[in-house]
Amino acid sequence: MSRRTKQAENEGRCRVCWCTDEDACPGGCAWVDDAHTLCDSPTCVEMAPVLDAARELLRSALQGSSRLKPLRDAITAFDEHAAQFQKEIQGADL
Ligand SMILES: [Zn+2]
Ligand SMILES: [Zn+2]
Repeated sequence: MSRRTKQAENEGRCRVCWCTDEDACPGGCAWVDDAHTLCDSPTCVEMAPVLDAARELLRSALQGSSRLKPLRDAITAFDEHAAQFQKEIQGADL
């Protein structure tokens, strides 16, 4: 809806690792989408759908506030993948 007005805030920063043009991933990375919200780090490419799915679940859970199961599922899934993500970051550390 407000793609243009929000672009300075959201574009140019990876939505997974928050790297930017000025502060890229170690070894360098490139944008994989036109909006510049996802870089081509393998971990970011892998995690982006998970984050998007979790965000969607959270959004739908908040809209139907009496249905908390999607929220709990989202948090559980997010925690699992966040732990895995953390391991990958530490494993990739130089
Ligand atoms: Zn990234
Ligand atoms: Zn990056």
